[in-house]
Amino acid sequence: MSRRKLVVGNWKMNGMREHLDEVEAIGDLAAAHPAVEVGLCLPATLIMAGSQKRGAAFIGAQNCHMDMSGAYTGSLSAEMLAEAGATWVITGHSERREARGETNADIAAKALAAKAAGLKVILCVGESLDVRDAGDAEAVVSAQLLASLPEGAAADWLAVAYEPIWAIGTGRIPTMEAVETMHAALRAALATRIGAEADEMRILYGGSMNGANAAELLAIADVDGGLIGGASLTAEKFAPIIEAADARVTAAV
Ligand code: PEP
Repeated sequence: MSRRKLVVGNWKMNGMREHLDEVEAIGDLAAAHPAVEVGLCLPATLIMAGSQKRGAAFIGAQNCHMDMSGAYTGSLSAEMLAEAGATWVITGHSERREARGETNADIAAKALAAKAAGLKVILCVGESLDVRDAGDAEAVVSAQLLASLPEGAAADWLAVAYEPIWAIGTGRIPTMEAVETMHAALRAALATRIGAEADEMRILYGGSMNGANAAELLAIADVDGGLIGGASLTAEKFAPIIEAADARVTAAV
């Protein structure tokens, strides 16, 4: 079992052409840390230009439609994103589950569409604060994961991101013990569906990860990387997270 650390920025609805310099600088960081797989999920408008500046980083999208074409005004298919230069896509981010009413079934269908277009997938799951406070987080998030996991999920094209909703963009994170317990629970849940493949699948942590907390989070056994919003918008903020991931690789050798 060897899971390469995966560190991915999610720029959400941020980024204009003037920010392509940051994409280039992050691509340089990726080249300087080849043991870590580094990527940026850009707004769709920057995917094509960003893929020309990406260096050793990959470019991903933040969402795709579950169909390849059709009368879906304003939507983008996985094939379109792949043609623009994306090689990964996020599915099931809580900001889409909540604001767009995306269901687990929708998310599984989107992941399959992504796979069909040759994209790799980051499948997001996570609990609300009410669920966390009720003490049900592991059971609820494990069930959410199994309900949104696409048929044929495998480690070479899909990674999971555990993102507690209440930690996203808030500066709050769970305790390290809570992250460890959740990641272990998610790996056990994966094993019930995909068997030994679960040991190969990367499970990222997301939610207010930054240069100050990354080393501790990435040291947790089942944390295989991070999905990072705010702290991925500049190379300066993203660098310490990539470096912390690389340090874990070095520590493991
Ligand atoms: C995210 O949007 O996936 C995320 C983790 O955001 P932030 O790092 O800003 O909390």
